[in-house]
Amino acid sequence: MKKIAIKTSCTGTREWSDVSHNIGSGCSHACLYCYAASYALSKGYIKTRAEWLNEKLTPRNIPTKAGVIMFPTAHDISSYYLDSSLDAIEQMLVAGRDVVIVTKAHLECIKAICAKFTDYQDKIILRITIGSMDEKICSFWEPGAPKPSERLDALRYAYDQGYTTSVSMEPILLGVRDAIVTYEQVEPYVTEKIWIGKMNSPDTRVDMTVAENCRRVANIKVCQSDKEIFKLYEWLEDHDKVEWKDSIKKIVGLE
Ligand code: SF4
Repeated sequence: MKKIAIKTSCTGTREWSDVSHNIGSGCSHACLYCYAASYALSKGYIKTRAEWLNEKLTPRNIPTKAGVIMFPTAHDISSYYLDSSLDAIEQMLVAGRDVVIVTKAHLECIKAICAKFTDYQDKIILRITIGSMDEKICSFWEPGAPKPSERLDALRYAYDQGYTTSVSMEPILLGVRDAIVTYEQVEPYVTEKIWIGKMNSPDTRVDMTVAENCRRVANIKVCQSDKEIFKLYEWLEDHDKVEWKDSIKKIVGLE
């Protein structure tokens, strides 16, 4: 199987790709830590967090800049976006591009992607975001996204279909123990890498006018302290599939 060559000397989405592609604005997954939502709010593109849940197509051409394309980065492949996402992925693949598809996977969407692109398996990495396998934790932080059990089913499905599979455990949604449990559950169905990263800038990205959010963010800071992240690093550093995101590399001295 061909390995898609991606630079790893950058940060954020550039750790995974050279260029991003999106076809919409808004995301029904409603993650409380969403960078795209907080950016849209800060720029006045939306007036309230609730507006972010309204999904709208904003079609655009595929990027012309060379390199691996990450799709999507500022929304997800929800049922609403599915047909248009299939079209966009097809356009990229027909143009000969390598594509990293990143999604909090709905099983029906992964099935549709797997069915449509069997001839392009060597051009695709399917990277499924699973920050915890704890249903209650996920439903708090990612209330509109598929449950972790559905995402695991989607990962297993893509793996069984012969796709290159990967997991993004960014952000991890709790502490060391939960991250290790999550890693162990997803690892058998990953053929490529498992990326692990902290929750970035929760103070600015999460709506801190809500008391429960403040409590959860305080807990994240405790269970993702430098000391705890070191423990996680020591536990998983010898595992070949693990890649550390910049938020962890900084702490453990890898950059
Ligand atoms: S799935 Fe991604 S784009 Fe959608 S709300 Fe969550 S973090 Fe934001």
